[in-house]
Amino acid sequence: MSEAVEPATSSSETTSPTEVVEGSIDKSEDFVEPDTKRRKLATKNDDKKHKLEDRLGGILCCAVCLDLPKAAVYQCTNGHLMCAGCFTHVLADARLRDELATCPSCRVEISKTSATRNLAVENAVSELPSECQFCNQQFPRNSLERHEEQECDERISGCKFSRIGCPWRGPLHERPEHENQCNHPHRTGAEVMESLKAIDQEMADERKIYDSIFELLGFEKILFNDIQLKPYRTDEFVHRLFYESSRFSAFNNQWVVKARINNSQKDPTQSSERGLTYQLILKSKTTTPMNLSYIVLRGPVGDIKVKPSIHQFEFTEQENESPYLPLRLPDSNECNRLLAAKVINFRLIMFLASK
Ligand SMILES: [Zn+2]
Ligand SMILES: [Zn+2]
Ligand SMILES: [Zn+2]
Ligand SMILES: [Zn+2]
Repeated sequence: MSEAVEPATSSSETTSPTEVVEGSIDKSEDFVEPDTKRRKLATKNDDKKHKLEDRLGGILCCAVCLDLPKAAVYQCTNGHLMCAGCFTHVLADARLRDELATCPSCRVEISKTSATRNLAVENAVSELPSECQFCNQQFPRNSLERHEEQECDERISGCKFSRIGCPWRGPLHERPEHENQCNHPHRTGAEVMESLKAIDQEMADERKIYDSIFELLGFEKILFNDIQLKPYRTDEFVHRLFYESSRFSAFNNQWVVKARINNSQKDPTQSSERGLTYQLILKSKTTTPMNLSYIVLRGPVGDIKVKPSIHQFEFTEQENESPYLPLRLPDSNECNRLLAAKVINFRLIMFLASK
């Protein structure tokens, strides 16, 4: 039960910093008497209410990570609640261990079809108060994100002269005052050039990948295949999960895609960080070397959140397997989501350079 322990620690980490922030705010210059009085009075009056909210929080939290779910809430056939992240994590772990997934609370079997959403809990949780990380005021969970991103006066912002090198970051309400005295607009052109160069470099790196794609589009031979990876197990002593596609043909040759978890780490269930790597294998014999570039994209089937990256490998008679390269997923959650699904779908675009 490693997954039950890890998320629980992270949930206690998320609650403690708010207490620290609250303490430090009291000591800061925002310490104004009327405000503290109001807060003390409010605490007295709200004592009962707070307790009810705390009690509800304890009832509606995810049975695995003990956090209040942010999105979908799932329940087993006995009614135990799990947040979407933990639910897919449980399914993914079961897939990795080649076992049936079970509810962490009561061990009843769970699957995508036997578990159900619980909308009442989802709605109730979204109404529970939650504290803004910047101003420490409480808001219903369903409006907290908007408040923190668009409305909060204390949210962290940058100076409007950041593009010419001003590193200032601070609460939004202090921004106008800073910008009035910011000396970056008075810097010389030569000084400003430094910052512009850094921005240019960042943009150039980002553009490089798109430029390369356009260059590839000019190749003589381009093909795409919508690939479906299915889970398999190695027949080693400890069965290990890997993924493989069925054979497909491209450029008059047979190919296969293989993928594995955490680059074949011994027991990926011991790690909370997860990623997928994949390789392309040329199955037929080739007499002439094939210089191939390829990209994995989401494609029309499936919903993999993969960022584009271009790989290139020369397939020859001796070297018919590309190295395992990372599928660029946004985070471990996305990897768990893919593991929890039965198959992984994506589109593979292949570009063959003419010799
Ligand atoms: Zn959870
Ligand atoms: Zn259960
Ligand atoms: Zn706020
Ligand atoms: Zn500034």
